[in-house]
Amino acid sequence: MQGLFPLNHPPPWLDCIGMALLQAPVGTRDLLPEELAAWRHVEGRSRDWFERYGYQELRTPLFEYADLFQRGIGEVTDIVEKEMYTFSRGERLYALRPEQTASIVRAYIEHDWASTRRFRKFWYMGPQFRHERKQRHRYRQFYQMGVEAIGSTSPTVDAETMVLAWRLLRDLGVRDLVTELNTIGCAACRPAFRERLREATIPRQAELCPHCQRRLERNVLRLLDCKEPGCAAIARELPRVVDHLCEGCGAHFDAVRGALDALAVEYRVNPLIVRGLDYYSRTVCEFSSPGLGGSQNALGGGGRYDGLLPLLGGPDVGAVGFALGTDRIVEALGAPLAAPPAMDAYVVAVDEESRRDCLLLAERMRTAGLSCELDHEGRSLQKQLRQAHRLGALRSVVVGPEERGRRVARVKVMETGEEREVAFDDLARPEGVAPRGP
Ligand code: AMP
Repeated sequence: MQGLFPLNHPPPWLDCIGMALLQAPVGTRDLLPEELAAWRHVEGRSRDWFERYGYQELRTPLFEYADLFQRGIGEVTDIVEKEMYTFSRGERLYALRPEQTASIVRAYIEHDWASTRRFRKFWYMGPQFRHERKQRHRYRQFYQMGVEAIGSTSPTVDAETMVLAWRLLRDLGVRDLVTELNTIGCAACRPAFRERLREATIPRQAELCPHCQRRLERNVLRLLDCKEPGCAAIARELPRVVDHLCEGCGAHFDAVRGALDALAVEYRVNPLIVRGLDYYSRTVCEFSSPGLGGSQNALGGGGRYDGLLPLLGGPDVGAVGFALGTDRIVEALGAPLAAPPAMDAYVVAVDEESRRDCLLLAERMRTAGLSCELDHEGRSLQKQLRQAHRLGALRSVVVGPEERGRRVARVKVMETGEEREVAFDDLARPEGVAPRGP
């Protein structure tokens, strides 16, 4: 620092927090151009799959009134208790969205879609914000993409959302994909199960982690998916929801499994998968990639949340969806998939006088749909050609005094060295640079 800015002349932005100003906040990061090839691939394929299944994009604000999440995610969750980024303006408290399901449901209710076309399918993609403990594969600004199908209680919709996530993750090439399914019953059968679970756990209370000791009172179902090895061992011996379902939930679970089997989805039932909130009902699912390593190997999860719409003051119409973590999917794919797109041409000026023509030629090619770059720094011919190589240009388009006089450019295919002259007027035509000519 001292070398850059003598201490008696600190730049005005280098204030008391000093270097911190020059770093992205903890838990956030810049996604660099060379990483974004993989991101764009993942997002593009996802959009494609979502739309094949009839989902439409819905973009909701990055922030909402905080009480939407307080009610919609629940006061006793980690997210609402300690992870939300909130801020106030005037009387109202706002929160950066920590997830998007609550926002999509808010929009469904706000636009009164239930009274026009009840069954709606939405997909979304974008950043979410949670002030989580810093850990590998865990960020404070992270990206999710997901779908919400609102307006149906049919088990085939559960199966359809699951098969979509499964196909997408397989298509993307996620290694060691694990797809797991469970049911958590409904408001009719869950209270009795919860009591049973509590009774079965009390004798082992002292062996639980401090977190689960608190959960025993407040959110006993969440005991089942604690990642602490001690708690996980106990959880395997506790009663299973699948054995305590009411008739309706039993039939729903059978129907979801029947549909998934018919669709040849590779999944397994894991009785330890739960969602801790009351508005979740019946189907829950999780997608993971153990290859990611560590405890943060979940790629996404979802389920049916029939209780959320009524909880937020909306109609009781049923809803199911999933959210996938884009950061983790990209990490699960390993090396960048696609090389950065090659540039069609690099326009090279041999002398100063040719630069204006080069600018015009580049513009002409760009408006014709080609990507190209040129030098703005007065570099030598050699340096311009080196730069063309560095940028991965497919061709160089060279203009010097001699060419300028005849209104032609020398177009050379960088890889083969094949060269020919092309008239200025033809450069942006199929017989010029585009689409495959030298
Ligand atoms: P959730 O909304 O908690 O069910 O999370 C769904 C998925 O989003 C998870 O399985 C992760 O892949 C991803 N995810 C959640 N929180 C984070 C985070 N802090 N950093 C990165 N990915 C996350």
